[in-house]
Amino acid sequence: MKIGTVASHSALNIIAGARAEGFDTVLFCTPDRQSFYRAFGLGDSIVIIKSYVDLLEKDIEDTVLIPHGSFVAYIGAERLLKSDLRMFGNRELLRWEEDRQLKTRLMTEAGLRVPPEYKSVEDVDSPVIVKTYGAAGGLGYFIARNAEEIRAELRPDKQYVIQKYIVGTKVFVTYFNSLARDRVEVFGADIRYETDADANLRFDDDPSFIVVGNLPLVLRESTLADYYNMGIEFVKAFKRVTGQDLPGPFCLETIIDRHQKIFTFEFSGRIVAGTNVWIPSSPYSYILFNEPMWMGRRIAREIRELQSQNRLEEALL
Ligand code: AMP
Ligand code: AMP
Repeated sequence: MKIGTVASHSALNIIAGARAEGFDTVLFCTPDRQSFYRAFGLGDSIVIIKSYVDLLEKDIEDTVLIPHGSFVAYIGAERLLKSDLRMFGNRELLRWEEDRQLKTRLMTEAGLRVPPEYKSVEDVDSPVIVKTYGAAGGLGYFIARNAEEIRAELRPDKQYVIQKYIVGTKVFVTYFNSLARDRVEVFGADIRYETDADANLRFDDDPSFIVVGNLPLVLRESTLADYYNMGIEFVKAFKRVTGQDLPGPFCLETIIDRHQKIFTFEFSGRIVAGTNVWIPSSPYSYILFNEPMWMGRRIAREIRELQSQNRLEEALL
């Protein structure tokens, strides 16, 4: 059995981790990115594909694929849901992530504090962030100070969610839910750095939220304890609403305000690129394993352990 992924996002993280655990690896790569991945010594894992959707046509029964953000962005959630690719994790979660109402329902079910939403423009009494349905990575979002500013921007042909704009620090916390060890691990935290929302100097009120990269973050330990509980509750809530497990990595995307209230505005049901900051180890994964343990390796370790327990299928949902 091989471990594979598509060449972008957290592919170095995933492939290096699988190799560290002794797996053969496959990196599905478009021609333009080939030389970059070769430069990292991954040449013998590269399988060239013209476009990522070609993956759906490939006969790769022997490969467990590790989905990541670009993987979903390039192939599309709908296609992935229908495909019979062998993917690590629970693809049902994609459905909950794609649909803004389901997303909020799951976070609320987990007892997480979510940014208040306004049903109609008339109710708005604070600065807001307005999100279009289906928008990814903050593209197409806008911020507004009041109802008047929102009305000026709204387009009748689009569906929106109007959320209170939370002023604070963005904190992304990644977890690993291990079926083999029956525990939720709080793996590491990072800050997603966005242009130009995170620029210090701004001369306009129309910031974009395009991700540039990630910075490592170590939280106050007392705050981390709160996040630990949030992760556990999230896994339990998913089980309650779907009857299914949520194996492997997931991320809660939050903002901490000046009163230290944590607002969760988003989640991700797979490896996030923020975990790239924690190669070869995060402080917490090091304490848990007593050896370097990054997310790509953690996934491969889980696959190994589930294989030896004859339970791998439980994590390929
Ligand atoms: P890429 O393959 O890097 O162009 O990214 C494809 C998709 O993954 C885009 O929708 C990005 O928004 C998302 N993505 C890539 N890198 C990151 C990151 N560091 N944090 C969050 N999302 C990311
Ligand atoms: P998302 O597409 O939900 O991951 O959001 C993209 C970016 O928009 C986030 O990384 C934040 O910078 C910002 N954002 C999203 N929701 C809120 C909110 N309720 N308050 C303030 N900023 C937000």
